[in-house]
Amino acid sequence: MGKIITIANQKGGVAKTTTAINLSAALGQLGKRVLLADLDPQGNASSGYGIRAVDKKKLELTSYDVIMGLARPHEAIIKTGFSNVWLLPATQELAEAEIRLLKFEQKTLQLRKALLQIKDEYDVIIVDTLPSLGVLALNTLSACDSIIVPMQCEPYSLEGVSELFATIKRIKKNVNKSLQIMGIVFTMVDTRLTVNRDVMRKIKREFPADALFSTEIPRNVKIAEAPSHGTPIAYYAPDSKGAEAYARLAKEVLKRI
Ligand code: ADP
Ligand code: MG
Repeated sequence: MGKIITIANQKGGVAKTTTAINLSAALGQLGKRVLLADLDPQGNASSGYGIRAVDKKKLELTSYDVIMGLARPHEAIIKTGFSNVWLLPATQELAEAEIRLLKFEQKTLQLRKALLQIKDEYDVIIVDTLPSLGVLALNTLSACDSIIVPMQCEPYSLEGVSELFATIKRIKKNVNKSLQIMGIVFTMVDTRLTVNRDVMRKIKREFPADALFSTEIPRNVKIAEAPSHGTPIAYYAPDSKGAEAYARLAKEVLKRI
């Protein structure tokens, strides 16, 4: 049975999408069948896999149609050019779901219902979500078995995380009893920076050791470049520190599943 993992943090710019792209590619390279579900209207995870704006116009069905119940997941999923990775793409149209979903009786459970139809066809389904706790984001938290929280080691990085954890607790109680936080992963780490080291130390004190992945993702220019080539880091710069880190993270994720 496949595992659904949402990459969440209501802060923007903490490497949620970067992690969704590169973790899914690394899992695919390890031979796992992976679906990357793009649930952010910005569609950056789709672009990171080479689905460019021009292609997006041609997409007939996207995650919008799936979450609105207008199409079945099979119909919207496309095969990427990368080993074992399929994509449920997103376009700007998805932004409209934030309002249109409100008319549904089970407005936060639409994605869950859809992904259940295809759960068994993949080993792992990675969901990229948006930095908010709106109805779209609540769909992505309600749909998954576990959550990975990317965190940047900056002074305010803990702000809001308690809100995310409270929301997760509520969802766990009301909708999704088996929901787990798989772990926090530090991203864009630059250990030369005192502030990075200080914040990391503080977070390590605050959480039990198993709440944190031991893999840390370094700040790495190749990681930042890869999306404009529509290529995950594992293929864009396979020998880079960034590729190596995401490969290690993928192995850790498989151990925790
Ligand atoms: P989010 O999805 O949380 O908003 P993104 O994944 O879009 O964050 O990342 C924000 C920015 O940081 C992007 O420009 C991305 O290329 C860059 N970035 C992410 N991780 C790294 C890294 N390890 N090294 C360098 N740049 C990174
Ligand atoms: Mg993002």
